[in-house]
Amino acid sequence: MAALAFQVPYSTCFWAQPCFRARPKGRNGTCNKEEVPEARRAKRSSMLRNTLVVIPWILYKSRMRSRVGCRGKPFEVHDFGDKGMGVVAARDIQKGELLLREQPLFLVSQCRDSRQLDAWENEINAALRKLPEHDLQSFWNLADCHTDEKSVVGIVRTNGLPVETAEGDMVGVYPTVSRFNHSCNNNVNNSYQEEYGEVLHAIRDVAKGEELCITYIDLFMTRQERQDALRRTFNFKCACPTCLQTGQALLRSNKVRQRLQDLRSALPSAVPQRLGPRVLEKIAEHIDEELGGNAAAKAYAYHMGSQLLRDIGQSEGDLELQQQATTFAEKALAEVVVAEGPESWVSVMLRESVPKAAQTRGHSAKA
Ligand SMILES: [Zn+2]
Repeated sequence: MAALAFQVPYSTCFWAQPCFRARPKGRNGTCNKEEVPEARRAKRSSMLRNTLVVIPWILYKSRMRSRVGCRGKPFEVHDFGDKGMGVVAARDIQKGELLLREQPLFLVSQCRDSRQLDAWENEINAALRKLPEHDLQSFWNLADCHTDEKSVVGIVRTNGLPVETAEGDMVGVYPTVSRFNHSCNNNVNNSYQEEYGEVLHAIRDVAKGEELCITYIDLFMTRQERQDALRRTFNFKCACPTCLQTGQALLRSNKVRQRLQDLRSALPSAVPQRLGPRVLEKIAEHIDEELGGNAAAKAYAYHMGSQLLRDIGQSEGDLELQQQATTFAEKALAEVVVAEGPESWVSVMLRESVPKAAQTRGHSAKA
């Protein structure tokens, strides 16, 4: 088997630009998946995350709830029968609401080479021996989409989330986050925040009883591209509502997502031509139409645009571009607050970097 087959799966990120750094993401599940003929029903998750760099300030923060459980537990794990386990909203949930903070059961190093598999298995077993019985049971309750008979390696490969630590890139395994299924139009965003572990926020209003899903992949892909990516990395066929579309709806969905890819690629060359704001607004428009206004996707678009506008504005001494950079930085932070909460390290970093003028403007707007 190829060495990379033993790598804990990552999904592609929204913005694979040099200014962004890979970040941990998503996890497992099954309810939106159809079993592939040649394999067991897959459960898993993961996704890349992008690091936002410096940006001017913005006005949000206190509007969003920052406490889990202030209105009762927002979700419950549900058994979907043949479709496996998943998570559903236990009550109505508001956009931006914090759903879960969860520390990993354990962290182990990443294994990217099949020749190191035995050593990796030993490392996992050593971590498991330190777990209390309850956590050990939680671990064995997780899915293994790689082998018919559950194995420790298979469970970690299926459920492990990449985590960046001071000691290096690690893999974390979570008892609850791992229950969130994938959707190609997700209503939950997950981010890793060192103080809390994996943190999940609703990125749009969710009605009681609706399934809560994260995404494991780059959503700016057509259905076939998404299906290929999910099968290749996670070994399942996605059967989410977006993937089940037919006829004109499917054609429109594919067209918009392809357009998002194209616009994302065009942005670096559009900014020097003074077309950055138009491209960014068009991206946001398409995200609103096709991805339900996905706050994480918008945040990365706005931030990427802001960085480009700022860099080119500074290099060319163009004050208008620099002002546009501030405008889109504010938009980026607004979306980050929704997707990750006001306390996320990204939000804090952005807030601290905001020019005083923008903060003053923000306070005035709120007054
Ligand atoms: Zn799908």
